[in-house]
Amino acid sequence: MDGSVAPGCMIGILGSGQLGRMLAMAAARLGVKSHIYAPEPGPATDVAAHFTLMPYDDVRALGEFAASVSLVTYEFENVPSETARIIAEHCPVLPGPRALATTQDRLLEKQFLNGLGIETAPYMPVDDAGSLARAVAQLGRPSILKTRRFGYDGKGQATVREGSDLPAVFCALGAAPCILEGMVPFTREVSVVAARSTDGSFAAWDVCENEHANHVLARTLVPAKIDEDTAREAIEIVHRVVDGLDYVGVIAVEMFAVGDAGGGERLLVNEIAPRVHNSGHWTIDGSVTSQFEQHIRAICGWPLGSPRRLGRIEMLNLLGDDIFRWRDFLVEAGTSLHVYGKNEARPGRKMGHVTRLFEN
Ligand code: AMP
Repeated sequence: MDGSVAPGCMIGILGSGQLGRMLAMAAARLGVKSHIYAPEPGPATDVAAHFTLMPYDDVRALGEFAASVSLVTYEFENVPSETARIIAEHCPVLPGPRALATTQDRLLEKQFLNGLGIETAPYMPVDDAGSLARAVAQLGRPSILKTRRFGYDGKGQATVREGSDLPAVFCALGAAPCILEGMVPFTREVSVVAARSTDGSFAAWDVCENEHANHVLARTLVPAKIDEDTAREAIEIVHRVVDGLDYVGVIAVEMFAVGDAGGGERLLVNEIAPRVHNSGHWTIDGSVTSQFEQHIRAICGWPLGSPRRLGRIEMLNLLGDDIFRWRDFLVEAGTSLHVYGKNEARPGRKMGHVTRLFEN
């Protein structure tokens, strides 16, 4: 990367959601301006120096956008590969193409993980009703059918139960290429948020424990209630993942902790997010360096900051109507309120979050 990436430069961010907003705010603190590119305005366009509202396949607009910035990053993993390719003709896209291609496809992602010797849920590819029937015979019921691409927050997923009509389940997911996953009897769900910089340096925050409601993250507790060896192993897994992807930026790896015969816990990787992540929002108020600042440091090729945690953490997502309780959170000592500025509080929509910081 050339020497132009210094405070005062402008970076591009694909996507106008809350992750883009928090990235742009962290960038601004370091004197870095943000240019948001998205089809529609959103929380990020309220805080960025520039924005372009155009479709992701507009070659001319993408070229002009890329020419205006030192590098481009993204707040969601479903960036069309053609969009990334067009931008890459003008400037670096970080995290790079290997990270995008691998994490956009659940089958490639699992094959990549297993290739590194990292355990996942058992799975089989499904391309039609016949292969679904064979996979169900192998993996049993209940099991979970997931589209290989474009899934998030439980979208693009269906549970195969006793009595489920298999062709109907497959059609309900659009008859798209899928994988069937065996149901994992997890004791808890955890995630590791970490960063790797252009020189290969690595920093990880403490392991997060995540509680979901209707497939959407509801609450994150840090540190996770797992033993030290398991926590060390979780971070070591992520270190192998980022090295394997030659990754630059912040990454989140979601894992299932499963009780083993010896009374301990073993880890299975569920999903890799090649971006800043909801389970890392607590780092804004609860860590020396936030995941958003760390991402800016990493993609700019600057030294990584300390991921040291400042206390015990509870992060609550404010979904839908929860946001109307904003006044209650403002009066809580030790609690930080974050409001994303979305105008319609639809049920389940991520409207904001609060971080509670306790003394250890
Ligand atoms: P995902 O979109 O893959 O992150 O899945 C969303 C949520 O569904 C996860 O956080 C789990 O709570 C649940 N889930 C997904 N896959 C499995 C699995 N193979 N076994 C058990 N629960 C799962």
